[in-house]
Amino acid sequence: MSETNRQILLDQLPQGPLGPEHFRLIETPPPQAAAGEVLVRTRYISLDAANRAWMMGATYRSALGVGQVMAGTALAEVVDSKDPSLEPGDLVSGDIGWQDYAALPAKTLTKLPNLEPLSHLMSVYGIAGLTAYFGLLDCGQPNAGETVVVSAAAGSVGSLVGQIAKIKGCRVVGIAGGAEKCAWLTQVLGFDAAVDYKDGALRRQLREAVPNGIDVYFDNVGGEILDTCLFNMNVHGRVVGCGAISAYDTAAPPPPLRAVPGLILMRRLTMRGFLVMDFDDQRERALTDLQAWVASGQLKVQEDILEGLENTPRALIGLLHGDNLGKRMVRV
Ligand code: NAP
Repeated sequence: MSETNRQILLDQLPQGPLGPEHFRLIETPPPQAAAGEVLVRTRYISLDAANRAWMMGATYRSALGVGQVMAGTALAEVVDSKDPSLEPGDLVSGDIGWQDYAALPAKTLTKLPNLEPLSHLMSVYGIAGLTAYFGLLDCGQPNAGETVVVSAAAGSVGSLVGQIAKIKGCRVVGIAGGAEKCAWLTQVLGFDAAVDYKDGALRRQLREAVPNGIDVYFDNVGGEILDTCLFNMNVHGRVVGCGAISAYDTAAPPPPLRAVPGLILMRRLTMRGFLVMDFDDQRERALTDLQAWVASGQLKVQEDILEGLENTPRALIGLLHGDNLGKRMVRV
């Protein structure tokens, strides 16, 4: 065990786009586990768009404060245990934060199976996979033959949503930034079409990509892309509110669209927001399906792994700019 614990603190709250100046790396002695706690060593840190949203104020968790260790989900190994439920060598996940070591109450951690590659526990069998699964199937309720559109389609959640929709027999259109990501969606993941929202012709491109309209729109981004999709929804369409990344990393989030209530009424749309933890009691069902699809090759897992705790701020800043393909994480 190392003598030092590197920790990345949130040093300032961003008022606009996140930058390296908002973080600070310090070194402290590793903590010790008290009764009911375990000492864990971080192996992988998950980078999530939500990390940035937590800096904007209270969400489904309390707001992040200046000077605290940057919060974040991580996969870690138990090094020392003062709780009977966990023992050294066990793998766990939880809000471990951006640091080498943490002493945390055992009851705040989830014990994980030891499988290879370990990184899949952070991607397809972690928050991304579960979010894609429950968001699409339980909230979106797609039927075979319907058209499903997903935004941030080349990211961790989006790339899985589109593939699960294909497995369910849907026609799938992904919206992503750049020709390269769009080509990857259609040529590698098997999406039926992809729309590059950065090329300046979103409305026309989307209309052409969904000649029969949209039955399910899985929204990861909000803003202009959500507005454009709403105008292409079919009667009785379903809109899944998963995230609003276009509003996270800016000082001026876009205003809500005033036409939305009328559109929902005239097209009899259902809009449903969800958090992945709403489905905590149903994880086993999802994991069984996800494991079967990965084993059969129907579900491709794209991971984007950076090396070194010190690169975690850069990894998050890059994710907000769309540098990632698939699930971004840092190996510590
Ligand atoms: P991700 O999709 O792997 O990466 C984020 C992607 O968003 C980037 O790669 C970028 O791709 C795209 N993006 C960034 N700014 C954008 C903008 N202004 N307009 C359109 N696209 C933009 O990240 P993730 O962590 O998996 O998150 C995806 C979404 O899922 C987020 O909204 C997150 O909050 C949500 N989420 C929700 C839950 C839940 O429980 N509801 C759980 C997990 C995640 P491009 O190159 O294509 O721009």
